[in-house]
Amino acid sequence: CGIVGYVGTKAAAGVLVEGLEKLEYRGYDSAGIAVMEDHKINVVKAKGRLKNLEQKMEHHGTPFGSIGIGHTRWATHGEPSDVNSHPHGNERVTIVHNGIIENYVQLKEKMIAKGYEFLSETDTEVIAVLLDYYYDGNPVETIIRVIDNLKGSYALGIMFVDTPDTLYAVRKDSPLIVGVGEDENFIASDIPAILKYTRSYYLLEENEIAVLQRNHVTIVDHDNEPVVKELFTATWDI
Ligand code: GLU
Repeated sequence: CGIVGYVGTKAAAGVLVEGLEKLEYRGYDSAGIAVMEDHKINVVKAKGRLKNLEQKMEHHGTPFGSIGIGHTRWATHGEPSDVNSHPHGNERVTIVHNGIIENYVQLKEKMIAKGYEFLSETDTEVIAVLLDYYYDGNPVETIIRVIDNLKGSYALGIMFVDTPDTLYAVRKDSPLIVGVGEDENFIASDIPAILKYTRSYYLLEENEIAVLQRNHVTIVDHDNEPVVKELFTATWDI
């Protein structure tokens, strides 16, 4: 299971798939990407190896755009299938998730009672639905409200169509780093996914929220206060 996110000037799809290949050692049963362009999020996902995802893109087209999130899934809730693969979300907000949401059944029931329909059997989809439900025009405040409802572990990459040049990330008990490049920034489960592009990275602490644009990274704490972070340099090769 792994996460890669990209915002920059390159075609995101290629960067995401390449990054996911570098995370293959973590194991997975399905893979997917979401790329945003012109206030539209395009998702491609497939059960099986990354090769299946690549073949799907060859046949149906590769999503175009310079901001996106990618995922390799190690299923915990819901069998490995195209539908259960990540990303999850709707035309307003889309996410990738590593981890387990322990209280997803209660949250799912609550959201179904509010009229939401679920497409997958995953615990993850409840996070996407909550983000949609709580969204008030302020992505960071929305993310804080949503994580306050979650019990369990998560590394999340998040895109809102309202902020088409911005990627959001947050983690608890699942790994996630923020890679800082030149005119491009990244999120990843582990450093090898980004080493081709940069050696500079921040370690995201529990429930810190990263806000990434092409030429800017801000990290805030759970009170939405900016955090001063140490920028690390990877000194090893892959
Ligand atoms: N619990 C989520 C699922 O089953 C995420 C699994 C993962 O970490 O890849 O879809």
